[in-house]
Amino acid sequence: MKILKTKAQLLKWRKAQKKGIGFVPTMGALHSGHLSLVESALRQNETLIVSIFVNPTQFGPKEDYKNYPRDEKRDLKLLKQAGVDAVFLPSREEMYEAGADTFIEPRKSLDKILEGRFRPGHFRGVCTIVFKLFALIRPTHAYFGEKDFQQVRVIEAMVEDLFIDVRIVRVPTVREKNGLALSSRNAYLNRSDRLEARHLYQTLMTASNLKAAAICLKKLGFKVQYLEAWQGRWCVAAFFKGVRLIDNIER
Ligand code: AMP
Repeated sequence: MKILKTKAQLLKWRKAQKKGIGFVPTMGALHSGHLSLVESALRQNETLIVSIFVNPTQFGPKEDYKNYPRDEKRDLKLLKQAGVDAVFLPSREEMYEAGADTFIEPRKSLDKILEGRFRPGHFRGVCTIVFKLFALIRPTHAYFGEKDFQQVRVIEAMVEDLFIDVRIVRVPTVREKNGLALSSRNAYLNRSDRLEARHLYQTLMTASNLKAAAICLKKLGFKVQYLEAWQGRWCVAAFFKGVRLIDNIER
C-alpha cells in the first residue's frame, strides 16, 4: 500500500494509474462504517485510494478539531488489511497553503437547514476539502456514508452544480448490533453511555411521530438540536452526555 503525504507524491501516483479510481475520503479514527465504504469501493473499482485528513475548515471555533480522535498507525493497518492501494495523508499546510483562501460555497437550499443551521460554515469546509481532493485525485467514483445524509446531498449538489466528472456512491449506515450508528465521536462516550446512546436510533424507529420522539429523547437524557423529516428521512442531532450525535433513518 502506497502512503502519499504530499501533493507531489499523489500527482505522481495518479499519473501512473491507467484505470478507473475509487476514492473514500475520511477523517481517520476508522471503524466498520468507514470500512464498509472501502469494501463497496473495492468491489466496484480496479484501484482504490483512501484519504485521511482531519479538515480544520469544517469545524466551528468551539468544536472538537483539536481533540478529534487520531490513530494513524491503527488506521493504516486496517486499510492495508482491507486491500487499499494507496492512502493520502496530507498535512494541514499541504491542503491549505498560506494565502490559498478560495472556498466552495454549498448549495444554499441545502446549507440553511439541519446541520448547516447549527454548524454555520461546516458544509463550506466540507465542500472545499472534497473539491480539493477531487481535483488532485480525479476519481471516477467517490463513496460517502448515509450516516451523514445531508453531507451526501451537499456533495451530490456540488458535483452537479460545478460539472465535476465523478460518480457519487451512497453507502448505507453501519450500526452496532443495538442500533447505535458507528461514529468516530462515539469514542468520547464511556461503555455504559455508549450503550444508553442506542436509544437515539431506537426512538427514531419506534416513535409514532416526531413530537413523540422528541419528548421521549428528552426523557432519556438527550438534548435534541433538531429532529425533522427531510427527504423521506427522519434526521436528528442530539447531545448525549455532552457528545453530539447525529443519525437518520428512512421513514
Ligand atoms: P468521517 O471520517 O467521519 O468524515 O467519515 C468519512 C466517511 O465515512 C463519510 O462519508 C461518512 O458518512 C462515512 N461514515 C461514517 N460513519 C459511518 C457509518 N456508521 N456508516 C456508514 N458510513 C459512515
